[in-house]
Amino acid sequence: MGIYMERFGIISLLFVAAVMVNMANAALPDLEFSLHKNGPANIERANSGPTLLVIGGIQGDEPGGFTAASLLVTHYKITAGQVWIVPNLNFESIIKRSRGVYGDMNRKFSKLKQTDPEFETVQKIKQIITSPDVDIILNLHDGSGFYNEQYIDALHNPRRWGQSLIIDQAKIEMPGIGISGIENTEAGSVQFNHLEQLGRQVVADVNAAIPQTLHQYRLKNTHTALGNKEMEKTLTYFAINHAKPAFGVEASKHFLTHKRAYYHLLVLEGFMNNIGIKFERKFNLAEADIKKAMYDKLQLAFYNKKIVLDVANARKRLNYVPLKKNADIAYISGNPLVAVVSKNNRFNVRYGNRNLTSLKPSYFEYDDSLEDIKISVDGNIKSISLGSTVDVQQDFNVHSIAGYRVNVIGFTRKGVRDESNQTIKLKNIRSRFSVDKQSKIFRVEIYQGKRYCGMILVRFNALKQTTLIDNESHSIA
Ligand SMILES: [Zn+2]
Repeated sequence: MGIYMERFGIISLLFVAAVMVNMANAALPDLEFSLHKNGPANIERANSGPTLLVIGGIQGDEPGGFTAASLLVTHYKITAGQVWIVPNLNFESIIKRSRGVYGDMNRKFSKLKQTDPEFETVQKIKQIITSPDVDIILNLHDGSGFYNEQYIDALHNPRRWGQSLIIDQAKIEMPGIGISGIENTEAGSVQFNHLEQLGRQVVADVNAAIPQTLHQYRLKNTHTALGNKEMEKTLTYFAINHAKPAFGVEASKHFLTHKRAYYHLLVLEGFMNNIGIKFERKFNLAEADIKKAMYDKLQLAFYNKKIVLDVANARKRLNYVPLKKNADIAYISGNPLVAVVSKNNRFNVRYGNRNLTSLKPSYFEYDDSLEDIKISVDGNIKSISLGSTVDVQQDFNVHSIAGYRVNVIGFTRKGVRDESNQTIKLKNIRSRFSVDKQSKIFRVEIYQGKRYCGMILVRFNALKQTTLIDNESHSIA
């Protein structure tokens, strides 16, 4: 029981990635990958299916794979069995939009010098791969063109990788009693070690949802053990040599990121359906909905929510961000692909391969004496914790607090220094001071003398949308 508690205590959709950036060091921070365990807290339901390990971002310039893996973390709820997700294996290369800052990580699984900068990372993922809990592994890639057994044209031929499911060999020998959980699955007849058989089944299911013949998936056997020197060095070959069934999954680089992610999710769901993992998805599996889902939980909080920013639609540059004086920058994000990196006295907020915004800091001493403020929102008085977002239709008015000063960024009224007790409408704030490009979200900051106490975000005319901070399963509190 103790083992179960320990094991299942950490299985939850709730996750937080905390990263420290050393400001004295202008280089990138240590960007380590994260492991997210998605599955029911209930032991019987978690045990009612196998554990699937999904890995994204082994190469940093393949956003279809790491975006799909990240959506598995943020937008799926596993209800039977378990899915372990490493959405950002080569995080530094992802943030730098490079295939591999230190070479190709997917060639480092057979031999690797201890002096290799990625030695520790490779050791850590090897440990997860060989964990007794893990039953089957999918390594997500974006590949060139479209794999085809026949040469059709330059884009569709045997040398291409896109839209394929890759196996190293048809079958692997499984020592011992076989795979845990398999007897309990409804798809109990599936034998994970028959890679070709399982692969063909998934490909058939996935292709039933793909009307365009040339975009359909194909199974590619690299016959690695027969002398394929390149493939011998890969993650999947390491896995199968440790009796872990493993597949490479390739979406085509021919498509835009959200469409690649769509195909990856089709394949991931195909696997889950075939191996007896049950799930709920928080969006429709369609390209447009995926694009939306990619940007709907991108909040970022610094220093225990002293600063909160909605970075999904942030302006290219945000100025006078009140960062903590003489301290390393510390932040959390509900999305495993978000990182803040320092550059030229600014901080860039990266989301996978993309830059969301750039922060220009103003440095302040912090004050912790205030936790919430009173604010009238459209005439209703509310008590709001610092670090929250408030939806406003018409106007808001922050009640004055003795000894503190309120600063509504972008609002000025003649002769007013403390901007409490002012009824403020959208038109009273200069739009260029908004956090977002749509000029709907504004910062309200509280100071005590020269010390910064915290902020709230005021969001005008908000459509009913869930955000990270409002969402129960993604609270960054
Ligand atoms: Zn790749």
